[in-house]
Amino acid sequence: MQCRLLRGLAGALLTLLCMGLLSLRYHVKLSPQGEQETPDVSLSAGPPGLQLQDVFIAVKTTQAFHHSRLELLLDTWVSRTREQTSIFTDSPDEGLQERLGSHLVVTNCSAEHSHPALSCKMAAEFNAFLASGLRWFCHVDDDNYVNPRALLRLLKAFPPDRDVYVGRPSLNRPIHASEPRPHNRTRPVQFWFATGGAGFCINRKLALKMVPWASGSRFVDTSALIRLPDDCTVGYIVECKLGGRLQPSPLFHSHLETLQLLRVAQLPEQVTLSYGVFEGRLNVIKLQGPFSSEEDPSRFRSLHCLLYPDTPWCLQLAAR
Ligand code: UDP
Ligand code: MN
Repeated sequence: MQCRLLRGLAGALLTLLCMGLLSLRYHVKLSPQGEQETPDVSLSAGPPGLQLQDVFIAVKTTQAFHHSRLELLLDTWVSRTREQTSIFTDSPDEGLQERLGSHLVVTNCSAEHSHPALSCKMAAEFNAFLASGLRWFCHVDDDNYVNPRALLRLLKAFPPDRDVYVGRPSLNRPIHASEPRPHNRTRPVQFWFATGGAGFCINRKLALKMVPWASGSRFVDTSALIRLPDDCTVGYIVECKLGGRLQPSPLFHSHLETLQLLRVAQLPEQVTLSYGVFEGRLNVIKLQGPFSSEEDPSRFRSLHCLLYPDTPWCLQLAAR
């Protein structure tokens, strides 16, 4: 009797165990559906917890601007994105090397403003991004201010299953180009591209598809083929080779637009800003202070204190 009871108990336990295992299998089988029912950030609102650490920011520069432009960037926005930012230049610089370490990339590209030289740097940026394994590639010029907070907000909004190429369209219409074909033929093509002077971003999913035209030395070849600059070449690859689309964003800015039109209240939302000379006049954002125009002609220092008032040299201003 005892024995039967024990056997009965053992049987019941076995049954319970089997039911448990079955329900576990059942649960595992069902869980993907369950995920769809419950809101899942990884499916609906961009990658879960995209962080600045997932972004590769490449800055294009040249020897002539190591002092006049880079110092300003290192003091301002780069100080908040140091680990994520790499500076691509054409000449060694001991001082910069000391400050940036492996984040200074001295390319073999020539120090001129020619299409091949600029495409050579873009290629170096793209290859370094591919090697980094990071989720987003963002390119900027050395006269751009990047607001890391606004950048992250923008990138977080894209669903991870999409190919993304986002930036400011250079023109208000697509550019026309001629694509060489075999047997001395050509094919007319048209495409949108993001102006490099305002910065742009591409996610890894799209970047990997661009590899056949953009990795290694192929970016320079593609640029030479269509005889257009680096930023146009990116647009050409995305739109004409891959059938993708530029996602236009008004949050990227170059000095080819009237920067004074931005209101102070709009500044914190902007992903990139710039400064420069446009039609013979200094083109900068309109910002009262805390620095004067003489102290801070680009207005980037004043902007940085507006956006990141906890910066030590911004805090010191209060004591002036
Ligand atoms: N640049 C470069 N080599 C040059 C001249 C410029 O790599 O010989 C870079 C410069 O550092 C900047 C970008 O190209 O990041 C655009 O240069 P710039 O702002 O002087 O000219 P823009 O095209 O904006 O008028
Ligand atoms: Mn410029």
